[in-house]
Amino acid sequence: MNQEASRCLLCKKPKCSEACPVHTDVPEAMRLYREGNLTDAAKLLFENNPLSAITSQVCDWQLFCKGHCVLNARKMPVRWYEVEQEISMAYLLDAHVEIDVPDNGKKVAVIGAGPCGIAASIWLRKKGISVTLFDSFDRVGGVLRYGIPEFRLDKKYVDAYERILQEIGVVFVGKSTLGKEITIESLRKEFDAILVAAGAWVAKEMRIPGEDLPGVIHALEFLKEPSSYELGKRVIVIGGGNVAMDACRTAIRRGCDTTVVYRKTFENMPANHLEVEEAQAEGVKFRVFEVPVEVRKDGDRTFAILRDCENVEENGKVATRVIDGTDHELDFDTMIVAVSEKADKSILDGYDHEDNPDIFKAGDYFYGPRTVVEAVQSAKLAVADMISYLQV
Ligand SMILES: Cc1cc2nc3c(=O)[nH]c(=O)nc-3n(C[C@H](O)[C@H](O)[C@H](O)COP(=O)(O)OP(=O)(O)OC[C@H]3O[C@@H](n4cnc5c(N)ncnc54)[C@H](O)[C@@H]3O)c2cc1C
Repeated sequence: MNQEASRCLLCKKPKCSEACPVHTDVPEAMRLYREGNLTDAAKLLFENNPLSAITSQVCDWQLFCKGHCVLNARKMPVRWYEVEQEISMAYLLDAHVEIDVPDNGKKVAVIGAGPCGIAASIWLRKKGISVTLFDSFDRVGGVLRYGIPEFRLDKKYVDAYERILQEIGVVFVGKSTLGKEITIESLRKEFDAILVAAGAWVAKEMRIPGEDLPGVIHALEFLKEPSSYELGKRVIVIGGGNVAMDACRTAIRRGCDTTVVYRKTFENMPANHLEVEEAQAEGVKFRVFEVPVEVRKDGDRTFAILRDCENVEENGKVATRVIDGTDHELDFDTMIVAVSEKADKSILDGYDHEDNPDIFKAGDYFYGPRTVVEAVQSAKLAVADMISYLQV
């Protein structure tokens, strides 16, 4: 048994559950685990969060569970996620979802087969609703398959969802993009409701001269199929979020001399801090308080003009300011841009939920880039709304 389970105080008002976006019932799962009842513990977790086997691996535990454990007061918080991994990862690979209600004739189209679309499809099927799941990619998984690298998430866990969805009768239609092969109007002819869970796949630009030069690529494109890129020797990654960390850690695994350039401090980095530490341990260099203001090519040489930044207090808040007159150059073979992503709102142009009650939005598509566990919680809320709309 994992020693972490025996240290859990089984709090009556568990702060870890409170802080978790899907409010995992940690004490009850811990209790079942301690009794050796791993299957019931796994079922409890799966029913509340079908992505438990994934979120237990990729969540920012400091933010969502471990960081809120009462034993932080004694500097020895329980690592609940280790127990959750043990319970859920093995279970998922062999899990079979029961649909114990007959089909009720209602049909839903889910757009986007990322964690949000996967969780929503499972919950909708469990209500006896027929589900067709569309995605631009030809496989299920969204960011789990086409973003997060294999060294952080073994794809056998993503494959398991493909199998489960097939077993419960979800029809997956790959290579189908809303706005291209399919439209809202074509879907409306066949489906009673539509859930758009298309994620946030539009890379934000740096808006600096030269960013379209060869050698400058976007992290989301790179991470889809890293092996298809010739990176050269020197790689610089622009940004300080999860995407930047996955990009730099992938580049260093390719043997590149890899440097992350971030305009604020380490403390300001939105990335999971554990990942930043791991990137550093793997040899990635970090240059903080620097920002690219231009990319230039001069013969064989490609380089970024970087400018220094500093934190200043403005109206009682800390703001980051670029310092004029501090320009300096940094040569690179590949610059990977990971400054942020956003949803492609144009795919729902003119179709808001207020005037179109059959259209629902969830996950990163709705909120902008967040996390896997928040995408699952968002799916839960959207499915509840859909069920009440469909009156099933
Ligand atoms: C590189 C990277 C690393 C990350 N690391 C972490 C992490 O460690 N921990 C964590 O919790 N979160 C992480 N995140 C964030 C997390 O992955 C997302 O918040 C989560 O995947 C959102 O789920 P989703 O289902 O809403 O969207 P997605 O996972 O983005 O899935 C959306 C799906 O919709 C499809 N789609 C898009 N447009 C269309 C269209 N027009 N028609 C049809 N299909 C379409 C896409 O192909 C995709 O498969 C990371 C994100 C990235 C990009």
